[in-house]
Amino acid sequence: MSHKPLILVTNDDGITAPGIRALVEAVAPLGEVVVVAPDSPQSAMGHAVTISKPLRLDKIRSAIYGKLQAYQCSGTPADCVKLAVSKVLHRKPDLLVSGINHGSNSSINILYSGTMSAAMEGGIEGIQSVGFSLLDFSYDADFTYAKKVARIVSKNILAGGLAPGTLLNVNIPRGPEAEIKGIKVCRQARAKWEEEFDERKDPNGRTYYWLTGKFVNYDKGEDTDEWALKQNFVSVVPVHFDLTAHESIANLNQWNWE
Ligand code: MN
Repeated sequence: MSHKPLILVTNDDGITAPGIRALVEAVAPLGEVVVVAPDSPQSAMGHAVTISKPLRLDKIRSAIYGKLQAYQCSGTPADCVKLAVSKVLHRKPDLLVSGINHGSNSSINILYSGTMSAAMEGGIEGIQSVGFSLLDFSYDADFTYAKKVARIVSKNILAGGLAPGTLLNVNIPRGPEAEIKGIKVCRQARAKWEEEFDERKDPNGRTYYWLTGKFVNYDKGEDTDEWALKQNFVSVVPVHFDLTAHESIANLNQWNWE
């Protein structure tokens, strides 16, 4: 009898992105790997799910994943996780890894991120889940050190287990490894995007907009992910998806509800 852990790999940059191939290589020695990922880029889709059109799920027959089972899905990262669990694996995997994203998902970016929503969906389904992101948007980014981090984190999860309802948001500075100072467990920095819209005219004279925006960090705390990443540490933020403001319940119970 084999007791190899079952590991589901997904992402939001699409099944052909170098980052997901790096992640597959990172976790392949740790268990049986199945890939279910979007057939096209789905960055910034957040936790969207597809409800008004059919979802396609096709087995990958090209050689890019060798002998591994790999499927591309026409939906979002959250769709991929749902379909993977109910139509491909037919059981909960022991670990879900998402990424390695091309670009940061630190701080408030977690809410917009397809990478982290896939991990979040795993968490909701009761699967131990983690998202990995490299602070480099480039297609040709060097994933060597990020792969190492992904393997270390995944090994720890499989060995010790995460508390129920907790998942991890792991962000990795650009290498080389010699310049990276280590791994820090952090809290999410309080930051936001200040929206800017580039206003243009189409050939018919109608106005259209491109969302640009600037990331602003209001939080100088040295226990935050933004601080750690600035100092060239890997940031590991434990996250839960219960958005209740527990500290406000007592106050709301004092209101006059008549
Ligand atoms: Mn992405």
